[in-house]
Amino acid sequence: MAKVSIGLRGWRFEEDEIFTDDEELKPLDEIPEDPRERLVRLVTLVEEPCDVCYLEHGDEEINRCRQAEIVYGEPEGEVLLCAEHEPDLLYWFRDAGGSEYKGSVEFADRFHEWVAAGNEAPEGYGSVEHVDEDPDGLPDLPDQQEVQERLEEDFQGERIDIVELAGKERSDEELTEEELAESDLDLSTDYPSDR
Ligand SMILES: [Zn+2]
Repeated sequence: MAKVSIGLRGWRFEEDEIFTDDEELKPLDEIPEDPRERLVRLVTLVEEPCDVCYLEHGDEEINRCRQAEIVYGEPEGEVLLCAEHEPDLLYWFRDAGGSEYKGSVEFADRFHEWVAAGNEAPEGYGSVEHVDEDPDGLPDLPDQQEVQERLEEDFQGERIDIVELAGKERSDEELTEEELAESDLDLSTDYPSDR
């Protein structure tokens, strides 16, 4: 089964989960939940700056940040990197305890803290080789710009559907005060303060 990256290196998709036999992007509702979540998230990430550049320069010097080329981690807890800063993430992950947070949305926060504390990969630390695994011969993928546009179209559609759905659910089923109180309670236990 061929795996492909779209927009940014890093996250990989099973080709037949997201593309039709004609190599068109499938409608979002035909894509399994996990890859769909990543695709929708990717749309919001492709134009973002590298996290390490951003930590160095901040909003004031956003023009000095390089655009992200690589994404690692889970949706909502992902790390974005330019090629120059990828070794920092790799070093943190392999040699500085980062792999402990694999699969967790804490992944990004812990890496950002490590970088903010002044850590970086040793000089000359190797970058991974990004060779497409190509056992059966990958068909040509649609042009990246096209994929992006289709994703955005579908993404807009998806948002409208969610809003409609939310509206229906709200009118069908009003929250009782008791449920609201419970949800407050859940919020405070789900997000304890770190310090
Ligand atoms: Zn960077």
